[in-house]
Amino acid sequence: MRRGGRRSAGNRLGDVARQRLMEAHQRYQDGQYAEAAERFGRMAEVARERNMPQIAAHLSAKAAASHAQLGDAGQMRSWLDRAVSDARQVTDKDRTARTFGTLVQVLRGSPLAGSADEIEAELRQQLGVTPKASEGGGTVNRSMRRQLPQRCSACGAPVSGAEVQFNEDGSADCNFCGSILTG
Ligand SMILES: [Zn+2]
Repeated sequence: MRRGGRRSAGNRLGDVARQRLMEAHQRYQDGQYAEAAERFGRMAEVARERNMPQIAAHLSAKAAASHAQLGDAGQMRSWLDRAVSDARQVTDKDRTARTFGTLVQVLRGSPLAGSADEIEAELRQQLGVTPKASEGGGTVNRSMRRQLPQRCSACGAPVSGAEVQFNEDGSADCNFCGSILTG
């Protein structure tokens, strides 16, 4: 049965998907990059099938980052290409810049650091934006943290006010799927 309403009709990740997504992040944080890469890759496919290109781009980029940590240039490139093709459907250019800025940052600290400059230049050309990792907003106050929703409206993951990083424009991204958090 299809649930009614534009928002719930395939526009959100389900419980199982959310669980897997959180697991993927946990693996990445634990340094289990091969397991993380596989999970991020699978979740990117799910997001793509559900027509959620922003999340698909974010997760493909996370898969690419995981492969970069492993020093696997071929797999990193393959997921990077998928992330770029997803990102072409995304209208929020600031978010695209952050997604790929974070990836370039990971690349620089990975065994593939030597290719980071070249990839950054390539991305700028392909996406029409300069990859720029969020540096965090300087003016985060308590009321901004209080206004955060308890759960991400896109992936449903719990939002931890202490961990959320704010962007320069005062928006905040979900740690898990990269969507903008709105109350
Ligand atoms: Zn989310």
